[in-house]
Amino acid sequence: MDTTNARSWVVEIARVVEENKDYLTHLDSAIGDADHGVNLSRGFSQAAALVTTTDYATPGALLTAVGNTLISKVGGASGPLYGTAFRKAGKAMGDTPEVDAAGLGRALEEALTGVTTLGASAVGDKTMVDALDPAVAAYRAAVGSGASLADAMADAAAAADEGAKATIPLQALKGRASYLGPRSVGHQDPGATSTALLLGALRDVLARPPA
Ligand code: ADP
Ligand code: MG
Repeated sequence: MDTTNARSWVVEIARVVEENKDYLTHLDSAIGDADHGVNLSRGFSQAAALVTTTDYATPGALLTAVGNTLISKVGGASGPLYGTAFRKAGKAMGDTPEVDAAGLGRALEEALTGVTTLGASAVGDKTMVDALDPAVAAYRAAVGSGASLADAMADAAAAADEGAKATIPLQALKGRASYLGPRSVGHQDPGATSTALLLGALRDVLARPPA
């Protein structure tokens, strides 16, 4: 995964978030304050504008800059959480121009630790962690059995999709949705859903033949 892949990922996230903006906001209207799609649209459109007009020496530097943009431009819970995830992932990639399969695994693990530390959240709390945690586990398992970076990322994205759907029967224990108590049951978590979209965007970018 090089700087071009990282840039394409952010551009693809901005496209997918725009496509799903109303859907994400609709999910957040059921158990939150109906702004998740709007929040992510604002953040990732600015992040995409930044990375397409700036030169970065490494994918790590690019993703760190995306994290900074998300933290400064996105309100709510998701801005700082996603911002931290991208900053931690970028930092974990170090100064290598080409991140290998193990390196992307470490970046995903750091992103997860960043979110659970800042959010004081764990699997089962009905948050983005319920998509990110199984994705990291699936990625690690795939690389452990010899999968390429792109194939491991496909497994990770599939696990994130499953994890997002599996939030439906859960009661929210963190974030705004937790104020609803048992009434949060029966709805898919917006942040877990957007995490699955973000990881699906990386899967799609890595599956593209090189230009
Ligand atoms: P807000 O809840 O402030 O309106 P958003 O609507 O943009 O922010 O994001 C809501 C999402 O943020 C939730 O669906 C959940 O996935 C995630 N979230 C909220 N609080 C936490 C937390 N403490 N840890 C992890 N994720 C969280
Ligand atoms: Mg919200």
